[in-house]
Amino acid sequence: MLIKNQHQQLNWTKNHGLIPAIIQHAESGEVLMLGHMNKESIIKTEQTKHITFFSRSKNRLWTKGEKSGNILKLINWYSDCDQDALLIFALPHGPTCHNNTSSCFHPGIAELSFLHQLENIISSKKNISSYLPNTSYTSHLYASGVKRIAQKVGEEGLETALAAISCCNTKELINEASDLIYHLLVLLQHKSLNFNAIIKELKIRNNNNKLNQ
Ligand code: AMP
Ligand code: ZN
Ligand code: ZN
Ligand code: ZN
Repeated sequence: MLIKNQHQQLNWTKNHGLIPAIIQHAESGEVLMLGHMNKESIIKTEQTKHITFFSRSKNRLWTKGEKSGNILKLINWYSDCDQDALLIFALPHGPTCHNNTSSCFHPGIAELSFLHQLENIISSKKNISSYLPNTSYTSHLYASGVKRIAQKVGEEGLETALAAISCCNTKELINEASDLIYHLLVLLQHKSLNFNAIIKELKIRNNNNKLNQ
C-alpha cells in the first residue's frame, strides 16, 4: 500500500516502536540497504525527503549521508500487508554503503538491475571524442550517428531471428540477443530514453489487456 500520513498508518506495537525499512533504488530496483525507523525519523524523512533512520548503534536519528553526503532521496514508500514493514524507493547520491559500494548487500545480485548499470556506462561514453586513442566501441557508435546505430539494431535483430530458427544452438541465440539488446540500449540512450520508459509502456499494455479480458 502506498502510504500517506505515513506514521499514522503503521503498526507501532510490534518491535518496540521500530519499523524495518528496505531501501530500493527507484530506477534500477537494486536493494540498497536495510534500516530501522521510528515515528520521528519518518516525520523527518517526510519533511526533508532525505531518508532518516533511527540508528540503534548511535541511539539517535540518523540521516543517511549526514557526514559522507551520500544521501538517499525519498521517491515513494509503501507499507507491507500488515503495516509493520516499509519498502522505500529512493535515488542515492553516491554509494549507499560505507564500504563505498552501491549496496550494502553484494552489489549486482539482481540480474535486472545490471541493465540499469549498463545504461549508465553506455551513457557515460556519449561525449567522448572518437578520435582519442583506445576509444571504446560505444563512443565510436555514438560518433558515427543515429543512422549507423539504427542500422546495427536492424542487423542484430535479423541475426537474432536467424539464430532462433537456424539450429539447436541456444548459445548463438543468447549471443545475438545480447548484441541486439546492447545496441537497442545505445539507440535509446541516443534518444535520451532509458529501458524504464519501455517497461512503463509494457505495464500500461498489460493493464489494458486485463481491462479487456
Ligand atoms: P553517513 O550517514 O553516510 O554520513 O555515514 C555516517 C556513518 O554511518 C558511517 O561512518 C557509518 O558508521 C554509518 N553508515 C553509513 N552508511 C551506512 C549503511 N549503509 N549502513 C549502516 N551504517 C552506515
Ligand atoms: Zn509485515
Ligand atoms: Zn553497508
Ligand atoms: Zn550479432
